[in-house]
Formats: sequence, structure tokens, C-alpha cells
Amino acid sequence: MSPLADHIAVVTGAGNGIGAAIARRLADAGAKIVVNDLQMAAAERIAAAITADGGAATAVAGDVSDPDDVSRIFRHCAEVFGDCSLLVNNAGIVQQSLFEELSVEDWDRMIAVHLRGTFLCARTAVVPMLQRGEGVIVNIASQLGQIGGVELVHYSAAKAGIIGLTKALAREVSKRGVRVNAVAPGPINTELVRNLSEDWRKAKAGELPLGHFGEPEDVADTVAFLASPAARIYVGQTLGPNSGDVML
Ligand code: NAD
Repeated sequence: MSPLADHIAVVTGAGNGIGAAIARRLADAGAKIVVNDLQMAAAERIAAAITADGGAATAVAGDVSDPDDVSRIFRHCAEVFGDCSLLVNNAGIVQQSLFEELSVEDWDRMIAVHLRGTFLCARTAVVPMLQRGEGVIVNIASQLGQIGGVELVHYSAAKAGIIGLTKALAREVSKRGVRVNAVAPGPINTELVRNLSEDWRKAKAGELPLGHFGEPEDVADTVAFLASPAARIYVGQTLGPNSGDVML
């Protein structure tokens, strides 16, 4: 069974971690995949792995916060497979800073990659989706956008912005056939979390009702569900694969 066989998916930041797992999971469900990443070698590696597994994938480099790069990513998608019907806004960065030491440059970069990137990709992808009267957008937020994270004010603000964007866009486009939802993972074992301090990781694991972090595949399964027809009445929701850390 290939529940996503009709889909052409763009997954941003898919060269590593959660994005790579999402790209592979959507390919397993039959979607054709555009693997985007800042690092072309990483994107090519994941596209090659999908192809080796019998799926269809192409790699494209690009910075999601740059409007010209975003246009190029979706042009590449249209040329290779056709218009994007499933967008996963996953690209992200993390950096810790005490709030009183947080620089304007670090604030701007955090908001640019997460919030501006999600806006630019969604605005580009939604045009052909609205023309066809169908499409799916899944935005990767974070539970820190729901509860806030210490030394992560800029990250938390960007992720809360993504949740707000998701709800507002869902209200605007759902009746025209485009479903928009978000996923707010808890701590997941990827490079991004390995870059946070060991003290933070130890303390965090101790707090979790489940006692351990999630894996990228746990988030990928949630995205695959939201993309599938089984999620047809999920609109503007934020699902939480988070080891029980946040219960809403
Ligand atoms: P990761 O660092 O393993 O992978 C992120 C990927 O995004 C990298 O390949 C990187 O090159 C790419 N990227 C960064 N900036 C980009 C840009 N401007 N344009 C295109 N690609 C870019 O991180 P991850 O843990 O897999 O995180 C993926 C997403 O999940 C992020 O949005 C992150 O905020 C979110 N998230 C992660 C966790 C976690 O615990 N790992 C928890 C909640 C949310």
C-alpha cells in the first residue's frame, strides 16, 4: 500500500536528522521527494539512499530564508517531478544564549531560518496547491514554542511563530483544499540536540515521563500520518511526539 503515491514532496533541511527521516518515510509511503538542504552533499546522500531503496528523489541545495533560493528549490521540484503537493518545513538551527547576551544577528538568523523560511516556502508551495484545490503543508515547530526554553528565547519565539502561522494559514486555505498542520517534537536524538550542553541533555532526560528522548523516525511517522488521507480532518493542529514532556 502506498498512501502517498500521488504526492510530490519537498522536505527542507532533509540532509540530516529529522528531515532525513521524514524524507525516507514519505518515500516509503510512495511520495516523490525533493531533498533540500543548505549542504548539497548531505541532500545528495539522502536522495541517493532513497533511490537505492527503490524510491524517487532528487537533491537541491538552498537556504530556506533566501527568497531566490526558495524559488529555485520549487522550480527544481516542478522541473523534475511536477508541482509540490506536500511541503514539510523542517529546516532549522539551534543556538543557546543568555537572553541579556543575545545578539541582534543571532536573533535575526534564528527568526529568518525558522519563521521567514516557513513563510517563504509555504507561500511558494501554496500557489499551485490552491490552483489544484489540494495540498498538504506540515510545519516542524518544537515543544519549546509551546512552553519556552531557557537560553532559547529566539528559538522558542521562532517556533511559537510557526505554530501561529500554521493556525492562521490553516484557517485561510482549508476550505480551498489545502490542509496545514504542525508537529512540535520534544527532544529527539539528532545533531541539533547533541549541540546543546550535556547538562541540559541530562536534566531534560530526567524530566521526561517516558525517561528518554525520541528518535527522528518518531517524528517522521507523525508527519506521514498528517500527510495521509487518515488525517483528513486534522486542520491547524500541533501534534506532540515529545516523550510526554508537554501534555496539552
Ligand atoms: P539537524 O541539525 O540534525 O538537521 C537540520 C538540517 O537543516 C541540517 O541538515 C541543516 O543543514 C539544515 N538547515 C539548516 N539551516 C538551513 C537553511 N537555512 N536552509 C536549508 N536547510 C537548512 O536538526 P534536527 O534535530 O533534525 O531538526 C530538524 C527540525 O526539527 C528543526 O526545525 C528543529 O528546530 C526541529 N526540532 C528538533 C528537535 C530535536 O530535539 N532535535 C526538537 C524539536 C524540534
